[in-house]
Amino acid sequence: MHTDDTIAAISTPIGQGGIGIVRLSGSNAVAIADKLFRSHKKKTLKQTPSHRILFGHIIDPSDKSTVDEVLISVMKAPNTYTKQDIVEINCHGGPIPLRRILDLTLNSGARLADPGEFTQRAFLNGRIDLAQAEAVMDVISSLTVQSQKTALSQLSGRLSEKISAIRKKLIELTAFVEAYIDFPEEDIEPPSLKEMKKSAKKIQAPLKKLIDSSRFGVVLREGLKTAIIGRPNVGKSSLLNALLEHDRAIVTEVPGTTRDVIEEYINIQGLPLKIMDTAGIRNVRNIVEREGVKRSLRILDNADLVLLVLDGSKTLHKADRELIERANSDNTILVINKADLPQKARPGNNGITEVRISAKQETGLDALKDGIVAMTLGGQVECGTDLVTNTRHVHALEKALVSMDAFIEGVEKQDSPEFLSVELRDALDALGEILGITTPEEILNHIFDNFCIGK
Ligand code: GDP
Repeated sequence: MHTDDTIAAISTPIGQGGIGIVRLSGSNAVAIADKLFRSHKKKTLKQTPSHRILFGHIIDPSDKSTVDEVLISVMKAPNTYTKQDIVEINCHGGPIPLRRILDLTLNSGARLADPGEFTQRAFLNGRIDLAQAEAVMDVISSLTVQSQKTALSQLSGRLSEKISAIRKKLIELTAFVEAYIDFPEEDIEPPSLKEMKKSAKKIQAPLKKLIDSSRFGVVLREGLKTAIIGRPNVGKSSLLNALLEHDRAIVTEVPGTTRDVIEEYINIQGLPLKIMDTAGIRNVRNIVEREGVKRSLRILDNADLVLLVLDGSKTLHKADRELIERANSDNTILVINKADLPQKARPGNNGITEVRISAKQETGLDALKDGIVAMTLGGQVECGTDLVTNTRHVHALEKALVSMDAFIEGVEKQDSPEFLSVELRDALDALGEILGITTPEEILNHIFDNFCIGK
């Protein structure tokens, strides 16, 4: 992969805004910008010391016309995001000025950046490791303040430090085991079984702790898959709206007239809920009773959290009972809606948490939110920011843990050091994948392909 050519991209979202930024990185970034920029004080960027901002205009070299009034920042290697020369052109935030300036940079020798290519360069040039690079995107796409704090902690390298500390212990243990393979005839004492086991346990403990932290961490990054299920007209759509706390969906007397939205997240005290099947919740016009229940049952199997909504003002229907029977008390809350009307529903004690609410009058919602947090996290949202949030990392940690189990088993069976070292090397590779040391090329490409343009 070559990283020495100069790339350019619009780094701000497409649309109208106060400011837009075209960003350049590479050995010709300053020279390319100098071809286009006329500073107010007649200074070139080349002459300008690093990390300065200049005021001036972007000029089209072909006809010397003014394209926009800009502020331009020049950051010279190596103390930059990519460790290369970077120029950021701050122009007016409209699609036309941004596009015109980007085109001029491309005509002057820059290449259009691939998604995530600036961050990829930061990684390839050794400024950040792979876990930190992934955290950049997590900060951008974080769902709640708590998610963002956790991503920021990962970006600052706290997770990487922990992984590196475990790797260091692993390398020491590997060297200890392999010394005996390399020099068996010399007078090296064979590694003591007890000592090897003790070292391996010291490696396993922090691995397990990190894996445990992912239970909440992954939810923070991806959202808790939440199903709102129940018969037509019980108030699922009204509940969704009440939780969203604004009227994005239209709820009417005739069910099924609501707009479809593909993905919606609700922030419950810092816990992001990813609402499944929002289209199904809101579009019930043609779903006969049987179909509605069937659909609910299908969704129920994939959910991390189920809000099973009943109409409290009616006696329970057979279909309600069927849903209650299928519910799992570990992840389901019975939401008995329409508490503002005289109550007739008697769900009985099924060991499932019950909350009475009125979606219409927005009562009981705080108790519901407390119930959700209690069920998911044992009531704790604030649990620090040192969490593993990325399923790729979780899998790598689990792989390392399995290898350490196999190592300990091998030690107990008194396997030869050759065999034992294979397990340790597998564990090392697994941890290296998190940091980008041993990550296969196609996984690297996949990670950066999912970045936004200009980052
Ligand atoms: P869904 O089909 O389960 O999504 O149900 P909707 O949210 O569309 O609600 C069906 C009907 O029940 C609508 O007329 C709502 O205004 C009404 N409704 C929803 N929640 C409440 C509530 O808490 N109290 C009362 N009185 N009516 C409600």
